[in-house]
Amino acid sequence: MTVEVDLHVHTTASDGTLTPRQLLEEAARRGLKAVGITDHDTTSGLAEATKAAQAVGVEIVPGIELSTVWHDQEVHVLGYWLEYEQNWFQVVLQDLRQERVRRIEKIVKQLNNLGYHISLERVKEVAGGGAMGRPHVARVLMENGFVNNTGEAFRRLLAKGAPAYVPRQKLTPAESVRLIRRAKGVPVLAHPGLIGNENIVEELLIEGLEGIEVYYPEHSAKEQARFLELAERWHLVATGGSDFHGSDRASVGDLGSFGISCATLIKLKKVKDIISASAFGI
Ligand SMILES: [Zn+2]
Ligand SMILES: [Zn+2]
Repeated sequence: MTVEVDLHVHTTASDGTLTPRQLLEEAARRGLKAVGITDHDTTSGLAEATKAAQAVGVEIVPGIELSTVWHDQEVHVLGYWLEYEQNWFQVVLQDLRQERVRRIEKIVKQLNNLGYHISLERVKEVAGGGAMGRPHVARVLMENGFVNNTGEAFRRLLAKGAPAYVPRQKLTPAESVRLIRRAKGVPVLAHPGLIGNENIVEELLIEGLEGIEVYYPEHSAKEQARFLELAERWHLVATGGSDFHGSDRASVGDLGSFGISCATLIKLKKVKDIISASAFGI
């Protein structure tokens, strides 16, 4: 199948290396007809991408990739053509982005209560301006001589069940599907092969899942065939994309290396039209 549409691409609005404009220019050079911009938990690149798309003559499918947790596992849900400019939706997104910072703050506070005095400032420094995570806390614990190595920090303090463990407060996949539909977007399960448990598909069907990412660089041929079968069985649109993050960094796939045809994009658009026409996106 020729890839005409790459429906899974990141820009500098999240962790990609190309700006939305550069991305659209690159898509035009490669002869793509349309590109889905799906930055993590943000729509801040979409305005620039929309302008650039007009300039270069490539259609943009405005989207997002929401990070969720399901049975202790990270699950990503894609949403397309959401009414993302709505205020309530932006408030939810902001809250999601701040969750990571709040979690680390809680962990540091808990460590201080337990007598392990480390500062949040130092954890921020160690993270080097990027997103803070538990590995950075572990390094600061080591710097302060509380543990001999980061493995020990996790075992004794930071791992699930340990005294300074703070669970993530992320959306569930079901909540994210509902959120996308409330914003009149089309919810699609991202890279199900990375989840390793296809029960999630049926669980999300009742919430209004409309598509499943079948064509994806890290799916084996067997997985691809299996997800295509599931898509057919449940009348889901079989979508696809490269998860491109930029050529100069470790990227999942190259731009346009995975994706769908224009005919499949039209199918997805029909779903969008039905969702838009319904009163509550349901
Ligand atoms: Zn993902
Ligand atoms: Zn992605």
